[in-house]
Amino acid sequence: MKAQRILIIGGGFSGMSAAIELRKAGADVDLVEIDPEWRNYGAGISLGGATLRAFGQLGILDAFLEHGSAHDGVSLRLPHGPCIAELPTPRIAGPSVPGGGAIMRPVLARILADATRAAGTNVRLGCTFKTFEQDASGVDVTFSDGRRQRYDLVVGADGLYSGVRATLFPGAPAPQYNGQAVWRAVVPRPPEITTATIWIGPRVKPGVNPVSKSEMYLFVTEPRPLNERVDPSTFLDHLRGLLADFPASELQAIRAQLNPESLIVFRPLEGLLVPRPWSKGRVVMIGDAVHATTPHLASGACIGIEDAIVLAEELGRHAALPASLAAYEERRWERCRMVVENSARLGEIEVTGGDKAEHERIMRDSLAALAQPI
Ligand SMILES: Cc1cc2nc3c(=O)[nH]c(=O)nc-3n(C[C@H](O)[C@H](O)[C@H](O)COP(=O)(O)OP(=O)(O)OC[C@H]3O[C@@H](n4cnc5c(N)ncnc54)[C@H](O)[C@@H]3O)c2cc1C
Repeated sequence: MKAQRILIIGGGFSGMSAAIELRKAGADVDLVEIDPEWRNYGAGISLGGATLRAFGQLGILDAFLEHGSAHDGVSLRLPHGPCIAELPTPRIAGPSVPGGGAIMRPVLARILADATRAAGTNVRLGCTFKTFEQDASGVDVTFSDGRRQRYDLVVGADGLYSGVRATLFPGAPAPQYNGQAVWRAVVPRPPEITTATIWIGPRVKPGVNPVSKSEMYLFVTEPRPLNERVDPSTFLDHLRGLLADFPASELQAIRAQLNPESLIVFRPLEGLLVPRPWSKGRVVMIGDAVHATTPHLASGACIGIEDAIVLAEELGRHAALPASLAAYEERRWERCRMVVENSARLGEIEVTGGDKAEHERIMRDSLAALAQPI
């Protein structure tokens, strides 16, 4: 890939991972990110063993283990506290690396941004594309800062509301609201919380996951038939209200601790699976731009990062670009479809109060599938 000039549009987890892997392969990489401050919002993110395996490939596993939290298993509990199951999380990233974990999003974003820059990526912040026009030998891109440059390949990694997708495939489906929202907050971590822990209520599902030695993040899924704006001044009372029906002592302690500084974030859940193809000519898409999943399997970041790894591998494997892009899509489609569709079904079961046995079966089957090589 030595002579290749590649543009990545979007500096989220997927775009940064693509920059790291493509630089390793020797390509000349520009990355444009629309946010001048390259921010990521202050919530925790849960990561499975497959994500930690991908971190190993990117070379950021040690930084994650230092600044995040890695642990084994998921503890499932009843609303008043008793444990009903301990779901095993296989050690996919190697025998010495726990099977899952979590970290604050801004911390992971900083680790990836440092690795992106250290790899020699030319990063331009506060910049986006205005137009791209392609012919048989390249793509001419004009940018919001007035520049115009020609590339061998453009990678669209600009997330759920992707402008690259809208330009390439104006008829692509729009994100779909799933009837649920998730609340997140950051709270102190008591010593008894050693791993991801979820309390299974009839409709509302709170959980916590350690993000460091001293903190954990709280997530609470709530059915909401309409995707309506919620006034931020009501966040604290609403979140406390959702926890009122859970007598478990850990949740009541969290409820008492929540305060205006708890970084409460509210987010309606949307999913999207863009039908194939995921590329046109010399422009290809990765991550949420083509497959945004609801967080029921905590694997959205994972599959976007894996896209980046597989794309770089396939670009290095074939002499002709169409063969590389076809091989990338072929390797990614089934795994990403499985994550998006199974997550959507889990959400549906939760919203309708559906079959708990089906919910558990989908969880187990999906986690087993995610453990497979990519
Ligand atoms: C509530 C919620 C909870 C989640 N929890 C988890 C979890 O626990 N575990 C997990 O693995 N996944 C989780 N996910 C999914 C995960 O956050 C996403 O899958 C992942 O962040 C996608 O990364 P991305 O880089 O593809 O897209 P994004 O993170 O959306 O990044 C896109 C980047 O492109 C930039 N951009 C946008 N437009 C342009 C443009 N025109 N030009 C230049 N730059 C642009 C944006 O500023 C952004 O930096 C969750 C998602 C949600 C909604």
